[in-house]
Amino acid sequence: MAVRVYNTLTRSLEALEPRVDQGSTLSLYTCGPTVYAHAHIGNFRAYVFEDLLQRHLQARGFIVQRVMNITDVDDKTIRGAHAAGISLGEFTAPFKKAFFEDVATLSLLKAETYPEATDPVEIARMIAMIRTLMERGHAYEAEDGSVYFRIASFPDYGKLAHVNLEGQRPGQRVASDEYDKEAVADFALWKSWVPEDGAVGWESPWGRGRPGWHIECSAMAAGRLGETIDIHCGGVDNIFPHHEAEIAQCECAGLRQAPFVRYWMHCAHLMVEGSKMAKSAGNFFTLRDLLEKGWCGREVRYVLLGVHYRAALNFTMEGLGAARTALARLDGWNARLIEVAGSSAGIEAPEAATEEFYTTLDDDLNISGALAVLFETVRESNRRMDRGELTPEQARGLLAWYEGVNSVLALEPHHEKEEMPAEVEELIAARAAARTAKEWKLSDELRDRLATFGWIVKDTKDGQRVNKN
Ligand SMILES: [Zn+2]
Repeated sequence: MAVRVYNTLTRSLEALEPRVDQGSTLSLYTCGPTVYAHAHIGNFRAYVFEDLLQRHLQARGFIVQRVMNITDVDDKTIRGAHAAGISLGEFTAPFKKAFFEDVATLSLLKAETYPEATDPVEIARMIAMIRTLMERGHAYEAEDGSVYFRIASFPDYGKLAHVNLEGQRPGQRVASDEYDKEAVADFALWKSWVPEDGAVGWESPWGRGRPGWHIECSAMAAGRLGETIDIHCGGVDNIFPHHEAEIAQCECAGLRQAPFVRYWMHCAHLMVEGSKMAKSAGNFFTLRDLLEKGWCGREVRYVLLGVHYRAALNFTMEGLGAARTALARLDGWNARLIEVAGSSAGIEAPEAATEEFYTTLDDDLNISGALAVLFETVRESNRRMDRGELTPEQARGLLAWYEGVNSVLALEPHHEKEEMPAEVEELIAARAAARTAKEWKLSDELRDRLATFGWIVKDTKDGQRVNKN
């Protein structure tokens, strides 16, 4: 059975197929974080959904070529840098670093590249794209040097969000800094420099200024993945105007007038304790807030993963508690299987029903169905272990199956994969050398020093085994 996904553009389920000349490769563009603050769990809902999509496609034999952008220049980052009295780069750097730490905490696969909007290569791409749009009559320069996209020049505008913009009167005046737009819906491709921008700005054919958010994604997506991208994801909030604008820009600036994206996939909103997440409501959480409360990355991942991506997700503390229970159940089952499998080398594949895990996900990432298959397998094999009926070969088969399942769900305990700091690696190497030299006192000292870093060493017949405490 083919993988089917819901395409926002056509409002229907479609078989996901690579382009004829692309073998089994699918390109995937995912809108990334704006690095003016720590990403919140609503952002991570989208990233976890995209991660599940990528992992499942890979499990199904596709090669996924994914690009995620980093928005490191926009109104919010400029405002933040200004308020902090530091440069834009100094302001965004710690949030970029934090984002990648959060990516690791949630076991998200890394994209192939993370282009940054302020990269001079990307800025040059944006300027080139804007120039093409102007040459073709799709964009115009306003008196202040800003450049706007002329929506009236692209009849397809609105096709993704299924909105009709005809009712909007041209020439309508809106915010004062956009006073000379031809039509209210026209959006900025290039924003001319204003004093609030301070040191932020790039030279362009239209004078000093900075790119608009939409052109950032268009230029980086087309620049890295080509004129047609297979899958483009984001949250429903991105559909309009962001993704609609990306389509307009790319389809009007492209050489081949090809569709910009073949499959648009969007995940629904996240709510917290039943209401919209808002700082003022006191229900606003970054991943870090949750870690401070004692929850861990895999528990948060489980909650964000557990609801179908097109359904609203109500994030609750009770849900986190349930995730902890569910994960403990999986861990207990896994440990039992390891014990039953013992040192048996034989392996017996589990029943055909376990294939259902993958076929269920083929259906537009039906995660609740897939988790039901997993927990039914746990229940059934636990029962067989209770009765002493599960053979070591069957246990090993289930362990192998669970490994495959975890290549998609990534719910395995985190500490085993925790990145080892360089000094810990050095201590371990030094301790191995000390043991070879039979310097037991030094070996013990090194073990104690490792413990101060939170790493516990056990000596086994196969050498040192090191785990994060
Ligand atoms: Zn974007």
